[in-house]
Amino acid sequence: MADRRKKEVVVQGVAASPGVAHGEVFVIHQRDLEIPRYDLAVSHIPGEIARFEQTLLETRKEIMTLRTEVATRLGEGEAKIFDAHLMVLEDTALIEETISQVEATKNNVEHCYSEVAQRYIDAFSAMEDEYIKERMTDVRDVTRRMLHNLLGHQGENLYEMTSERIVASEDVSPSDAAQLEDSKVIGVVTDAGSRTSHAVIMARSLRIPAVVGLHDITRRLKTDDYVLVDGYDGLVIINPSEKTLFRYGELKKERLNIQRTFDKDSLLPAKTKDGTTLPVFGNIGGPEDCEGVMVNGGEGVGLFRTEALFMSGDRFPTEEEQFQAYRRSVEAVQPHPVVIRTLDLGGDKTVNSYYFTEEEENPFMGFRAIRFCLDHPDVFKEQLRAILRASAYGDVRIMYPMISSVQELIQANKILEEARQELRDRQVAFDENTPIGSMIEIPGAAIVSDLLAEHCDFFSIGTNDLIQYLLAVDRVNDRIAHLYMPNHPAVIRTIDHVIKTAKKHDVEVGICGEMAADPIYVPLLYGMGATDISVTSTSLAEIKYMLRQMKLKDAQELAAKVVKLSDPEEIYMTLTAFYAKLMGELFKN
Ligand code: PEP
Ligand code: MG
Repeated sequence: MADRRKKEVVVQGVAASPGVAHGEVFVIHQRDLEIPRYDLAVSHIPGEIARFEQTLLETRKEIMTLRTEVATRLGEGEAKIFDAHLMVLEDTALIEETISQVEATKNNVEHCYSEVAQRYIDAFSAMEDEYIKERMTDVRDVTRRMLHNLLGHQGENLYEMTSERIVASEDVSPSDAAQLEDSKVIGVVTDAGSRTSHAVIMARSLRIPAVVGLHDITRRLKTDDYVLVDGYDGLVIINPSEKTLFRYGELKKERLNIQRTFDKDSLLPAKTKDGTTLPVFGNIGGPEDCEGVMVNGGEGVGLFRTEALFMSGDRFPTEEEQFQAYRRSVEAVQPHPVVIRTLDLGGDKTVNSYYFTEEEENPFMGFRAIRFCLDHPDVFKEQLRAILRASAYGDVRIMYPMISSVQELIQANKILEEARQELRDRQVAFDENTPIGSMIEIPGAAIVSDLLAEHCDFFSIGTNDLIQYLLAVDRVNDRIAHLYMPNHPAVIRTIDHVIKTAKKHDVEVGICGEMAADPIYVPLLYGMGATDISVTSTSLAEIKYMLRQMKLKDAQELAAKVVKLSDPEEIYMTLTAFYAKLMGELFKN
């Protein structure tokens, strides 16, 4: 419970996932650790070595427990990574060199261990061999765990929490986020981050309230402090008073009632007041998310982010493993379509990956998505074959991420044709007419969208990346989050241009970035002529409800007006006023 002797403190951040949660905090330290260095008296050296050996044993136990947890929750394949961690932990060279260094330098063991481990990491990273590079990631992870334990930090794995907690962390990587689902996390607060980081997108889909961009919340909080997370307004309240808890209790009830109103008709089509039915799809990260899409009224999957399949485990998934995941998804949403996006690793989706061991200066503008796939045609073709095979079981569409030129699209289509031919040779069934889509998320692609339209059947505008590249605003950098503006005229004009071009060339054009999941922007997008939108499953019911209150004609008039505006603030106010007219009644308290 909150400590009544302490004052309530309110910290403002960025509202990243709606909802209210309160409870005790679990602080996870992830960034570079500050390792102290101090001299030891000769008489203390045996004690220091004993402390090291004891920590090795504790860390071993910790890894074994994690291994069992992960094997039970996710399967043996996923748990194998911990076998590799045990091998590193017990590596005799690493242990003996650390002990020798403590004896020789008379420095504390954290310092010596970190120096020895770093020498290994540097040596591994200089090697060409991919297998050795993979081991470098293991050494990094194990070193971090050992150092936390030597420094007496609390455990840092979400599975280690035994009671419901609010997690405070510098940032949440996509691989940490993957653990959110089965964990006891009831809220997330982070120093860094933005609404469009992949971990936050995942928190939203799990209805876990989150506030990000808090700069130093991990310094202000310690494990067991009591906080309230207000994911609607982006507030973290440390030591909330009884009055605050009561007020938020009321807000929670009110919001639940509103959500019930949305949920009641979520399975009905989103038919506007003037009679047009607008398709609303769901975004997924794996077959297990399909149920959420269907129960919340999604009319199919507009974006299957396939990266998650590649981010767990310690190797690329096989064609068969991928095929099973795609097929399960297709069958789960029958007879609706599933747009399967080919691999989009890179950017913020590299952490802990077995392949991406080299750090890039500019990962979001680096070796990402289709660039990686075209450079690794075997990995790409394996995925394409798996997707094509799934097309024999339902309505499958293939979509390429991060296309920046016609040449890339042509090359991807060429590899797709090779994948088709291989399946024909193997006499494996697939749909010969699987529609092909290009994501429009790079300004260059938007500008040449007329040329791209000649080589694909549909576009999907990925506003998360499009905004960051158009405005040169890193989508996960909290210091410039205020510059990340979907309401910037450049963003609106670009989307308008792509939609108009798509119409002219008779290709469908959907929107699948987070802008489409923000109800304020949905009338504008449909008003501009988007064919469909695809959103986090937890946003589906609200958006469909709103569309049922709207006339498409009014949305078209709104769009015609907004594309001419030059001031982001005025754009925002115009959109909010339109939204308030549709939904004001519901939120009148
Ligand atoms: C986007 O960029 O808008 C998008 C949907 O892709 P991702 O968020 O996975 O980069
Ligand atoms: Mg993207």
